[in-house]
Amino acid sequence: MAKTSSCQYIPTDTQKLGVAAIHGENITSIFKGKKDVIAVENVSFDIDQKKITAIIGESGSGKSTLLKLIYGLLEPHSGEVRYKGWLVPTRKDKLIPGHDAMKMVSQGFDDLNLYAKVWDNVASQLPNTNLEYKKTRTEETLKKLRIDHLAQQRVADLSGGERQRVAIARALINDPEVLLMDEPFNQVDAAFRDGLQHDIKQIVLETGLTVILVSHDPAEVLAMADALIVMRNGKIVDAGNPKDLYYNPKHPYTALLLAKSNIINATQASILQIESTKQVAIHQEWIDVEEQPNAPFIIKEIKFRGFYSEYVVGNDKINLHAIVKTKTPIPIGTGVNILIQDSISFSQ
Ligand code: ADP
Ligand code: MG
Repeated sequence: MAKTSSCQYIPTDTQKLGVAAIHGENITSIFKGKKDVIAVENVSFDIDQKKITAIIGESGSGKSTLLKLIYGLLEPHSGEVRYKGWLVPTRKDKLIPGHDAMKMVSQGFDDLNLYAKVWDNVASQLPNTNLEYKKTRTEETLKKLRIDHLAQQRVADLSGGERQRVAIARALINDPEVLLMDEPFNQVDAAFRDGLQHDIKQIVLETGLTVILVSHDPAEVLAMADALIVMRNGKIVDAGNPKDLYYNPKHPYTALLLAKSNIINATQASILQIESTKQVAIHQEWIDVEEQPNAPFIIKEIKFRGFYSEYVVGNDKINLHAIVKTKTPIPIGTGVNILIQDSISFSQ
């Protein structure tokens, strides 16, 4: 029997064919309590293998719950999750929670032994039945995560970024097919994030690993993920490849999340000569301002952001945030015309 099937745990299950590697259908997850919380509400999704998929959304939107449902740590109240067509077993099906072909790196390094050496944290995941293999495989895994030089250090003495690499090495040493990560870059200094993201991408290319990660900061995953799942209030509001979602979001929330877009209503849009019956999104980089005395709008605020400035421009009915790259700023209070290069009109 293939190790990826779950029929060894759920004898009544039959394989569903013609669905994506990870397939969720009408999943609802409720936390029962004084007041029930519907953390995930009737979501369906498809996740391809050998790709990086990011689940993004604001805090409390249900991302971590969805990740746990995929791994089998939580039992959905209704609906089902399948891996390679087989139901993902949960606590009621097997003693040790978590799908055998998957590994999860949780938030906050709970699994790491802070006072043990890096080597031991990683090597301890392998049995002692073949010591030669254990040694070479541990070496190889530490090298892949670029932490071989830290092998003899205690995890407690490492930086957040290095600890994250140890946690990933530990998860990958047994060659899982799917790696699940909850907010993996949270504890990693901004300067080291690019490096870690690059290395994860490289591992996916080299080994065909499937990665699913959760993030509340979409900017950091736009460059990394092959596919995004956008969550809001327990629902999936958008899904697709990052570029499509950036330029053609279905939902204003996605435009706000991915592009910090200006979301305006139809009345405000008409001030800018944009016709629409619903909300409109204008990304900050789609707005140009042009100095002109007696113009209908003024510069209200300027935020220095380094290589660009963020201007707040508008009148008493509308405020827009615009990215401006000129070196000599237009002073606050100056009259300006607003030139809109592009905009998105929503149908909902
Ligand atoms: P996210 O990861 O997007 O921040 P979560 O999946 O952690 O969101 O949580 C979604 C919702 O479910 C939130 O309202 C949260 O408070 C609630 N929740 C999460 N875990 C529990 C739990 N163990 N008990 C009760 N409510 C929970
Ligand atoms: Mg979370």
